[in-house]
Amino acid sequence: MGSPERVAVVGAGAVGLTTAYDLASRGAQVTLFERDEPGSGMTDRAAGICYDAYAEDIDVSVADRAMDRFRSLSGDGEFVFHETPYVFLAREGDESAATALTESVERMRVHDRDVSLVDTAELGERFPIRTDDIALAGVAENAGWADPVAYVDLFVEKCERAGVEFRVGDEVAVRAEPPTVVVTDELSARFDAVVVAAGIDSRCLLADAGYLIALKPYRAQALVGECDYRGPIVYDATDGSYLRPHPAGVLAGDGVEAVEADSDDWDPAADDWFIEDALDTARHRTKLDPELGRAWAGLCGSTPDNNPLVGEVVDGVYVATGWHGHGFMWAPAMGESLAEAVLGDGRGSIPKAFDPSRFDGDESFTVVEGMTLDGEGDDGDSDVGDGDNDDNDDNDGSDDGC
Ligand SMILES: Cc1cc2nc3c(=O)[nH]c(=O)nc-3n(C[C@H](O)[C@H](O)[C@H](O)COP(=O)(O)OP(=O)(O)OC[C@H]3O[C@@H](n4cnc5c(N)ncnc54)[C@H](O)[C@@H]3O)c2cc1C
Repeated sequence: MGSPERVAVVGAGAVGLTTAYDLASRGAQVTLFERDEPGSGMTDRAAGICYDAYAEDIDVSVADRAMDRFRSLSGDGEFVFHETPYVFLAREGDESAATALTESVERMRVHDRDVSLVDTAELGERFPIRTDDIALAGVAENAGWADPVAYVDLFVEKCERAGVEFRVGDEVAVRAEPPTVVVTDELSARFDAVVVAAGIDSRCLLADAGYLIALKPYRAQALVGECDYRGPIVYDATDGSYLRPHPAGVLAGDGVEAVEADSDDWDPAADDWFIEDALDTARHRTKLDPELGRAWAGLCGSTPDNNPLVGEVVDGVYVATGWHGHGFMWAPAMGESLAEAVLGDGRGSIPKAFDPSRFDGDESFTVVEGMTLDGEGDDGDSDVGDGDNDDNDDNDGSDDGC
């Protein structure tokens, strides 16, 4: 088959929109199917934190590309990439977090990351955060945050300018051999290639087409607290919480349930315990008194080895999902890689370690959350944002979860 001319993308989140634009700007005729509004899946719920503080080659190359692109997009329309250092810390008495942090920083520095270990005095002098309970901290300079809604708005506009046809309001199904999008019982359309970027729903879309992928959803939560916080992004490795500056004050998150969620029956509202804990943690760390603005929950996707599932599932049908809470920060790089793969040799610059066919899709595995320090994941991958297993192997692999 020659280079695909007509490509369908299913899902207008950060990943689908970027892919659609990158395909169209390379000459493909692209139709983008979205059942709700662009961004209305998990992208609108993302905290928007981005960094390059990784310790493995693959993650480093994806993060470098993504950060470059965020920066080059900054100032385009309303989209702004806010350069903000990323502090990750271990509290007094938490030896294992301190050890993991030291090792992580060493590995990051081997990969040329602009990361350093700092003591509490230095940290307190540099940043307006509480430091008297901190044993050790690392600071990654190459980090920042962006508003996911502004990213979506920018890419909707870019897609429109590049000639992408939007089909908003269509909840579609997918068929393979040949690649087909089914809109209704009476209406389906064949394409040269179909990219399934339907977030957590990619699993059921592909299962319905006869292809299993190794993906499980888990729930995560965040809130905005109103105050005047102008400090760094902070990740606390001792309790797994994080926060970043926000135009209304501070955005604080965690509330992760590292067990498989039901993607058809989950609560999009934040739990009371999370709101209370996150506000307490934010008050403690920022030395301010944030009042609750809004709070929410969402689903992230876990895979057996912490790497995402990106690439060709079957001739002409591609998937991009399983981000372990990194889908927003990786979208600028992965959209580009996917477009190259679809229009090139099927692989493009997608790391081999992301190939969805490395799993059968029906294996049993442990749900792993994305934001951890120790990085003892199945693939040995470790960084500030990857890793950590919980003993919650809650699926015997006997069904597809749909
Ligand atoms: C609380 C929270 C905080 C997070 N913080 C961060 C962060 O700081 N940094 C980071 O990188 N990531 C973060 N994430 C993860 C991030 O939100 C996701 O990884 C990312 O948004 C995934 O984007 P996506 O485009 O793959 O999926 P989505 O944004 O979910 O988009 C998929 C789209 O597909 C559509 N769709 C699904 N099925 C169909 C169908 N059958 N037909 C048509 N359309 C369909 C959906 O409506 C949806 O719009 C966070 C997640 C949560 C829950």
